[in-house]
Amino acid sequence: VTRAERDLVQEQLEYLHRRHLSIGDDHVASFYPPEMEAQRHLFGVAGTNVDGTQWSVGDCAHRFPLQSISKVFTYALALEDNGREATLNRVGVEPSGDPFNSITFDEARNRPHNPMVNAGALVAANLVRGRDPAEKVERLVDRLRTYAGNPDLHVDKEIFEREMVSNDRNLALSYLMRSLGMIDGDIEDNIVVYLSACSVQVTAVELSVMGTTLANGGVNPHSGSRALGRQHVRDVISVMSTCGMYNAAGEWAYDVGIPAKSGVSGGIVTAIPNYFGLGLFSPGLDVYGNSVRGIGLCRELSARFGLHMFAGP
Ligand code: GLN
Repeated sequence: VTRAERDLVQEQLEYLHRRHLSIGDDHVASFYPPEMEAQRHLFGVAGTNVDGTQWSVGDCAHRFPLQSISKVFTYALALEDNGREATLNRVGVEPSGDPFNSITFDEARNRPHNPMVNAGALVAANLVRGRDPAEKVERLVDRLRTYAGNPDLHVDKEIFEREMVSNDRNLALSYLMRSLGMIDGDIEDNIVVYLSACSVQVTAVELSVMGTTLANGGVNPHSGSRALGRQHVRDVISVMSTCGMYNAAGEWAYDVGIPAKSGVSGGIVTAIPNYFGLGLFSPGLDVYGNSVRGIGLCRELSARFGLHMFAGP
C-alpha cells in the first residue's frame, strides 16, 4: 500500500463513517443486551492490510465481546484438531436460512447445518481438544491472542456470567443434540467453552487484525505468528462467505460479496484473501441481528472499491 493509497482509503472510511453514523432510528430493531441502547452512538471501523498498513475511524478503542464472531475461530480450531473430514461429519457447511439460534438440523446427515449458527458452534466447541473445559478455553483464547496480536485477550467474567444465566435456549439445543448423538460429554462443560469464546472482548482494530490474519493465509501480518494452518484457511473463509451473516447471509453475499461474520454485540469481521480485513463495531442491530451501521458501511465500501468477490475487473 502506497502512501497515496493509504490516504485515499482513510479519507473514504472517514466519509463513510460520517454518513452511516447518522442513520435514522427506524433502521435499528434491537440492541443486545438491551442496556447497549445507551451506547447506540458508538461506531468504529478499522482496516488492516496484509502488508500491515492500518486504518481506523471512530470508536476503535472501545472493547466489545466477540459473541458469534468467535464461531469462526472455534470452527478453525476444531478443523485443526480433527481434520476436515472428521469435522465435516459432525457439522455441515450449508447455509440454513434460519435465525442464529434456530433448532433445525441437516437431518439427512444428522449434524447442524453449519458452524456459524449456535447449533454448529456448540458442536465445534465440542470438537476442540482439551482434558477439561478450562484447557479447551485456554487453547481457544490463546489462538484468539495470536489472531489479534494481543497477548492480554481474556474471557470477560462479567459478560460470561451474564451469558450463562440467560442461556436456556443453548441448553435446550445442546440436550436435544446430545440425544441425537451430535454432541457428547457434559452439556454445561461444553456451553462453558462456547460462551467463554463469545465473552472475549476485542477492539475494532484487533478485530481487523484477526480478519487480516485469515486473509493472510493464517499468519498475523504484524507478528508473523501462525494462528491457523494454511490448509484450513480456505475452509474457514468459505463458510464465512456463505453462512457468516445468519439468515441474511444470502443477501449479504449477493449485495456485499465479502467473506464476513457478525455477532450480536454489533461487531463484524471481514476477510478478503490476500488483501485485507475489516473490524467494525456499532451496537444497533437489524432484524437478523447484524450491525446496521456495519452492514451499511461494508455495502458502500464494497461498491466504491469494487470489492465484491464476483465483481470482475
Ligand atoms: N452468545 C449468544 C448466544 O449464544 C449470542 C451469540 C451471537 O452473537 N448470536 O445465544
